[in-house]
Amino acid sequence: MNKFYLTTPIFYINDVPHIGHAYVTVAADILARYYKEKLGEENVFFLTGTDEHGAKIAEAAKDAGKNPKEFADDIVPKFEEAWKLLNIDYSHFFRTTDPRHEKKVSEILQKIYNKGLIYEGVYEGLYCVGCEKFLAESDLVEEKCPLHPNLTPVHQKEKNYFFKLSEFKKDLIGWFEKGTVEILPKSKKSEILGKLRDELKDIAISREGVSWGIPIPWDGKQTIYVWVEALFNYYTATQFLENKKDFWPADVHLIGKDILWFHTVIWVALLKAADLELPKSVFATGFFTINGAKMSKSAGNSISPKELVDKFGVDATRFLLVSRFPFGQDGDFSFEKLTEAYNAELANGLGNLVSRVAKLCESADFTQNSDSDSHVENKEEYDSAINDFRLEDAASIVWGRIGELDRFVDSEKPWELVKRRDPKIKSVLAHLVDGILEISGILRPFMPETTERIEKQFSEAKIKSAPPLFPRI
Ligand SMILES: [Zn+2]
Repeated sequence: MNKFYLTTPIFYINDVPHIGHAYVTVAADILARYYKEKLGEENVFFLTGTDEHGAKIAEAAKDAGKNPKEFADDIVPKFEEAWKLLNIDYSHFFRTTDPRHEKKVSEILQKIYNKGLIYEGVYEGLYCVGCEKFLAESDLVEEKCPLHPNLTPVHQKEKNYFFKLSEFKKDLIGWFEKGTVEILPKSKKSEILGKLRDELKDIAISREGVSWGIPIPWDGKQTIYVWVEALFNYYTATQFLENKKDFWPADVHLIGKDILWFHTVIWVALLKAADLELPKSVFATGFFTINGAKMSKSAGNSISPKELVDKFGVDATRFLLVSRFPFGQDGDFSFEKLTEAYNAELANGLGNLVSRVAKLCESADFTQNSDSDSHVENKEEYDSAINDFRLEDAASIVWGRIGELDRFVDSEKPWELVKRRDPKIKSVLAHLVDGILEISGILRPFMPETTERIEKQFSEAKIKSAPPLFPRI
């Protein structure tokens, strides 16, 4: 592997950024930073952005008294600001209203059409504006979309263009089974395969009544279904940005599990139809609750990135978000639990060890060898955790090391060595400093600013005390 391309979901702008958007974006940034260290900055491409077309946005814009583009222009900076606040170092912020994307998508769709994989038909059925998707009878719960019980699905009958998705059934099963496209976590793979074996129908890929979208190139009365067009962002970015062509196919698309079908079955078939290479993996994160309750606009329980950063600081927020439960599984967040973890792991754990060792170095007037350098002892364990997207395991390697170093301090009692001017103090402190630099090396992708502070402090010839990294809250 000499390059790495990863993407976050392309976020729909009907909502402002909340903890859900932040969770997957921070995870992506941690992976990107890890691979940048490993492969070099220029060999990593990290894409995030916003999905801006569709009936739902047109309606929201109308309600806000704006045209859809103005509406999008007002929401997009909120995402950019949130990512700046969380120190997200993305390579490009993609907007589906970018004319370069619109042009590329039209070309690709025309190509699929020319191959005879798109045909005209009539769609009749129920449509959920909340999901921007057609609902099958089997999707309904008490005659409503299960995700939008407050919206009545709309009965629609319109001329649409259909994509021959059904023709790809056998190939898709083969690619997913063989891992040509890896669906992760593994439990999700069997879920998709099960559904895929069940039935696979052709899908409508255009809309007649929705003008806020990219026109179907051969029929100006129709626009490309927002989902189909938005999925292509992952590919078109590599085509219209400078020097990015070699990054396709993507190494991983990080997404939420609610959009896994689109990102596996539909996306992969569309790519194949356009004779494009397939992504190597798609990783679905779980759903989470806030204090045990489903997060929703109407419940008003969503947490913004700013609220988290105001309380915990940038790096602690990044760390806490991805280390509470296994990446890819469902979990629960609450300010109470985050505060508890902050105090236990960061203030009392890492922060305390760092200030303890710095104070000892200072009081012993310890002079460091210039050739001491940081290395990660459990590098293999750490690398394999990151490669398997087990971010919480990668982070947790440090707790073992912090415990070891704390016990080492307790047993060696360096303050007594200082008092009786025992020369052993030099090797004891050198061991502790090495350990701290090792921990810092592990945490670098998770906490870029904090680890930079630690590395600066502990690479001075004379190590000095500094204000606490994580004041107790
Ligand atoms: Zn819905």
